[in-house]
Amino acid sequence: MHIGSNRTDNGRIMTGERRTKTLREAGEFGIIRMIAEKSAGGDGVVIGIGDDAAALRFEAGSLVLSTSDMLVEGIHFDLSLTDPFRLGRKSLAVNLSDIAAMGGRPLSFLLSLAVPASCPVDFLDEFTSGMLSLAGEHGATLVGGDTCASPRGLVISVTAFGEQVSDRIVQRCGARVGDLIFVTGTLGDSALGLELLRRGEKAGYPIDRHLDPRPRVRQGRALADAGLATSMIDISDGLAADMGHITDGSSVGANLYLEKIPLSRSYREHYRTMPEDMYRTALTGGEDYELLFTAPSSRREAVLSLFSEIYTPVTEIGSIIPEPGVHFLSPDGASFDVERGGYDHFLNRQGAD
Ligand code: ADP
Ligand code: MG
Repeated sequence: MHIGSNRTDNGRIMTGERRTKTLREAGEFGIIRMIAEKSAGGDGVVIGIGDDAAALRFEAGSLVLSTSDMLVEGIHFDLSLTDPFRLGRKSLAVNLSDIAAMGGRPLSFLLSLAVPASCPVDFLDEFTSGMLSLAGEHGATLVGGDTCASPRGLVISVTAFGEQVSDRIVQRCGARVGDLIFVTGTLGDSALGLELLRRGEKAGYPIDRHLDPRPRVRQGRALADAGLATSMIDISDGLAADMGHITDGSSVGANLYLEKIPLSRSYREHYRTMPEDMYRTALTGGEDYELLFTAPSSRREAVLSLFSEIYTPVTEIGSIIPEPGVHFLSPDGASFDVERGGYDHFLNRQGAD
């Protein structure tokens, strides 16, 4: 389904039985006004929405972290499987997750939209409310963006800004031989959630994880502030691919133990009779938005006590080795081969490294 696909004979758009105003009627400035009215000011925002550019103040001595993600209807989301509120939340979540993975504090973001003129105003209203609800949870302020018409399908681009002092920023390239590898939360739920949605299921824990991922902002920052992580990344492409980004960036390799991979109760339950698929999906599924990081083995207890203080599950899943590559090992010591996974937009296939 595309936005406004419920076209009536006179070309007007219906949502359910109720006729709602479309962007064609509200106009670009009507939409911008609606978005501006919903967003409040925030830390460091000297000039927000409404002028030619926003003016932001960052803390003296901090570096500005900036990140951008684009979500295209038909590639990143399917409007028949999600709702505008959760789409708004997820569009921001993927950016906040990137700020978290650098160990930063999110401050502000820009929202650029290409929307079909037939899109109902109500849709954008819900979308913006969803996005601003997540922004509020993390203290991030919407400070501007751009809005234009799309000939076909919705395109969402969010650019987020965060800050952190330079010697606390955590990169992908700092893993050292002997470091331990940790991951927050559980893996594979989002991929399972998408599969369940495609089969027609509507609700449940895995579906919630797919449609409304919670970025680990507090956790990334706490790790960075404590100086515990030597490298960090958020899991967007799947554990195998994202571990590969750390090992490639750090010129090392990794041993990961299958039986240690954290899996949720509903996930295990679903794959009860399919152990192969259970691991394969957890390692390659993607969109978990958990944090994957390394820390010196001497800091194991410090890592565990930090996560218990912030009430977040964390699991030690392996260690960094000198031999290149990401190696998954079964309990009997045999290696478990997986494609790295990840999605290449131009090759249009999974597993493109
Ligand atoms: P300009 O023509 O100078 O680019 P615009 O008319 O595009 O200005 O935007 C006017 C103001 O509204 C700017 O402050 C811009 O950042 C903000 N804005 C435009 N689109 C959005 C959006 N989708 N979300 C938030 N702010 C927006
Ligand atoms: Mg503009």
